[in-house]
Amino acid sequence: MQESWLGVHAFKLLSWLRAMPAQLRHRDALRPTLLLAVAVSWQRTLLLHGGGAAIFRGSVVRMKDETESLHVQVLNFDPDVKQWLLRAGEKTFHRVASSFEVDFCVSPDALASRHPDGLQVVQTPCGRALEAQVDFPQGELFREAPYLVAQRGVLAARSRAIAFARAKGMMRVLEAFEELCTSQPSQSMSPETAVLARWECNCQQLSVPPASGIYRTHSLLQHSCQPNCAVGVLFSTGEVLVRALRTIHPGEALCRNYEREGFLQLDVRSRQQHLRETRGFTCLCSRCVAEQ
Ligand SMILES: [Zn+2]
Repeated sequence: MQESWLGVHAFKLLSWLRAMPAQLRHRDALRPTLLLAVAVSWQRTLLLHGGGAAIFRGSVVRMKDETESLHVQVLNFDPDVKQWLLRAGEKTFHRVASSFEVDFCVSPDALASRHPDGLQVVQTPCGRALEAQVDFPQGELFREAPYLVAQRGVLAARSRAIAFARAKGMMRVLEAFEELCTSQPSQSMSPETAVLARWECNCQQLSVPPASGIYRTHSLLQHSCQPNCAVGVLFSTGEVLVRALRTIHPGEALCRNYEREGFLQLDVRSRQQHLRETRGFTCLCSRCVAEQ
């Protein structure tokens, strides 16, 4: 379904997006999905667990029992009645999880005002990167909550998440999303393609629920075939956890392996070819340079 969206005329799509989130007719039949959940509290995002599901606090869900789709927001899970506490406009109410599907989560609270201490954003030949200013020992570097989460592989849900933020005046979210690419989208790129490109290049896959999330600091990690960092997602909170694989010294850029573990066993030619074909860049990491 998502590819067909790319062919939709931009004006039609934008008009459609502006009409959301309250009373929106959905012609795209999103498959029933496991509930995703990511939670935002005041300082950090918390994944809400309840009723056999996990949902990020602040997620926008679509009521399935409405003739017209109605987007409502997940506030909490109420263990007393074993139901989710939802909000539509000014009204709050309870509902069992089986009556809705999670569409996306927009969480301005997950955006810290600055990046973690000891790290700075620098411009490199490969784009922006995160550089250490101090020594970081092996172990946890930082953990971070996502500010945008949407169903995996469904462009419409991602576009709606951006449009939702725009409609709600969530400027911090929109600015953070715009930061994902330093270069302006080319004039030939449609708005929906720009959304897809930004998302695909910077997202972190979340296995349960099947969604992808955007994290502000984490998205600055560059790829390297000799990474000094590893990334994991904490199921209990939905946060991404970035660990230093060794001591990282001042002036070093934080880098990770974008691919599966076995990728690093490939020879330089295979690695380069794979990255060019699937991610559209030529790896200039020190290992690739040394092995060529
Ligand atoms: Zn490389």
